[in-house]
Amino acid sequence: MYYVRLNRCCSINYNPRLHFLFGKNFERATRIVDQGGVKRISGDPSRRFLFQVSISLLFLPPYMCFAEHHCTCYSFFYDIVNRGEQLCCKHQLAARLAAAVGACIEVKVSDEELAILLSKL
Ligand SMILES: [Zn+2]
Repeated sequence: MYYVRLNRCCSINYNPRLHFLFGKNFERATRIVDQGGVKRISGDPSRRFLFQVSISLLFLPPYMCFAEHHCTCYSFFYDIVNRGEQLCCKHQLAARLAAAVGACIEVKVSDEELAILLSKL
């Protein structure tokens, strides 16, 4: 993340360390960020937030994601929780990258609306 933060750009300048850590998910995550697929939804006044990550080319519903802890996608439960093969899914990585380079679409909602979103997870 340090490298990405320094360059303020998420387009792939091949970075072997990040690629080693995250594998194919790194490239997929950078594609999501470059397509503007990461929204940061913040509650007001609490300032609590979560990420909504969507893959625009596919007509799939967006995934709700906490960058460090949880994602609603199938891969999170299968590859990370169940098999322990990955550090995080591409949505979590996209959320981290977008936050690092300031590429999130910021969405402000009331705390009540945020609670409703969280209740649907
Ligand atoms: Zn995910």
